[in-house]
Amino acid sequence: MAQSTETTDWVSRFADEVIEESERRAPGKATSPATAPVIVVASGLSPSGPIHLGNLREVMTPHLVADEIRRRGHRVRHLISWDDYDRFRKVPKGIAGVDEDSFSQHIGKPLTSVPAPEGSAHPNWAEHFKAAMIESLAELGVEFDGISQTAQYTSGVYREQILHAMRHRGEIDAILDQYRTKKAPAKKQQKPLDEAELEAAEGSGAAAEDDGSSGSAGYFPYKPYCGNCEKDLTTVTAYDDDTTELTYTCTACGFAETVRLNEFNRGKLVWKVDWPMRWAYEGVVFEPSGVDHSSPGSSFQVGGQIVGIFGGKQPIGPMYAFVGISGMAKMSSSRGGVPTPADALKIMEPQILRWLYARRRPNQSFKIAFDQEIQRLYDEWDKLDAKVADSSALPGDVAAHARAVGTAAGELPRTPRPMPYRTLASVADVTAGHADQALRILSELDPARPLASLDEVRPRLDKAETWINTQVPADQRTIVREEPDHDLLKSLDEPSQQSLRLLLDGLADHWSLDGLTHLVYGVPKVQAGFPADATPKELPPEIKTAQRSFFALLYHLLVGRDTGPRLPTLLLAVGQERVRALLGE
Ligand SMILES: [Zn+2]
Repeated sequence: MAQSTETTDWVSRFADEVIEESERRAPGKATSPATAPVIVVASGLSPSGPIHLGNLREVMTPHLVADEIRRRGHRVRHLISWDDYDRFRKVPKGIAGVDEDSFSQHIGKPLTSVPAPEGSAHPNWAEHFKAAMIESLAELGVEFDGISQTAQYTSGVYREQILHAMRHRGEIDAILDQYRTKKAPAKKQQKPLDEAELEAAEGSGAAAEDDGSSGSAGYFPYKPYCGNCEKDLTTVTAYDDDTTELTYTCTACGFAETVRLNEFNRGKLVWKVDWPMRWAYEGVVFEPSGVDHSSPGSSFQVGGQIVGIFGGKQPIGPMYAFVGISGMAKMSSSRGGVPTPADALKIMEPQILRWLYARRRPNQSFKIAFDQEIQRLYDEWDKLDAKVADSSALPGDVAAHARAVGTAAGELPRTPRPMPYRTLASVADVTAGHADQALRILSELDPARPLASLDEVRPRLDKAETWINTQVPADQRTIVREEPDHDLLKSLDEPSQQSLRLLLDGLADHWSLDGLTHLVYGVPKVQAGFPADATPKELPPEIKTAQRSFFALLYHLLVGRDTGPRLPTLLLAVGQERVRALLGE
């Protein structure tokens, strides 16, 4: 069963802080973790378009902390606030079923009032993009309580809070005004955000840090959506605190009306007031935010001053750094090079993605590899997995591993026989979708324990195959020669011919991953008069050169290039018979 990983990593330390803060807020009520008040942590996501992989940190940070709290026996609620009552700000580019011209007419409406992209099974824009994220979160084992802000606002859940904010608009205005008079703070980032990061920041739900505006009638922290055109291009022109009568006009269509705010449900608090109102309403104890929300005058800082008006407290809110992407192939991204969690889960298992977030403190940025780096990442993961199994891993690494492989609810489904990702990728590369060939090759890797079925290496095999097919450029794919390269074979000098003969003579006895590794490194040693198992210390440095040229020769004869997948894997993938033919036997 899931074990607590006490104070060994950043997650544990935040869990300590959050539990302490929760007890401070309700002193004396915590007789035991199971009966203490439910601890609330929160994330906010705006389904204004595909929800990017970068925004996953908004969810993973509180998820990991909530999960640790749960492992310790406390009751915890992880809210994901779907900011689907936010305005539709712009038409994102490159989305199937979305024509920029026809969708631009919806700008200014709530995201739930914009139609879904054509062909979608979902009722509106927000639901369409939420659905993809919900599916990815399920695969990642993230347990959460989703709250639609459209549902909250339009059913009048926040009525008292809205009326309260209107009554205290002077105080709110005074707080906001401290920042309005200041110059925009210097950017804290060391480098300008690139386009993908800006897109990610905009997707986070709060980048449009609207704090409401002052018209001739004064400042109002509330904005109605127009009763005629549904857009938020409205201005409040009069408000009566006693009757709650509010008059607004729409600058988009000219519509004007007077409503009673104590029964009106088609509008929302402006972002900088909305966020702290929800901290107070839900009793949020932990909610991190991106760097764009954490600078002076940002919504998190201002919210800390406004939340008291609603009788609440600011949550513990660490800033998290951006998550970058390395080497995303354009063709498979949902949108102009910015991948979603679903894109990542097509090429890596959920454990690996969880591990990336668990092992780095939130203020450390990191990159998620879509390029060759993913193979090294998987090697590192497998090494850690082995160390955890034989109890030689460091405590912090053990904690990150435990958070990656499961949650308080149990372990995530895993690949029963996790063969190296790079091997699976090479096999997928060389076999190009022929399952029977893949099974043969993978069984030969470890002849003592052949695979009964490819299911033993799934889903890792499927992820590696998708990676090869969607992320590896055509000129880096491996194409095994159909016919031997007769010209090259004829031109070989005696030592080269001898090296091929040594290899061919050893093939049958070495036909496994370990055996072939031994063989391909051993041939140049034997040729130079050393034993095949001589260690590097016993060998002159020239051996390395000899190995390199031997490997290059094999690559040329097998795949017509200088390099390729690791030779032992490649040889197994090509198959003994075909190797013999291509090497001129
Ligand atoms: Zn209007």
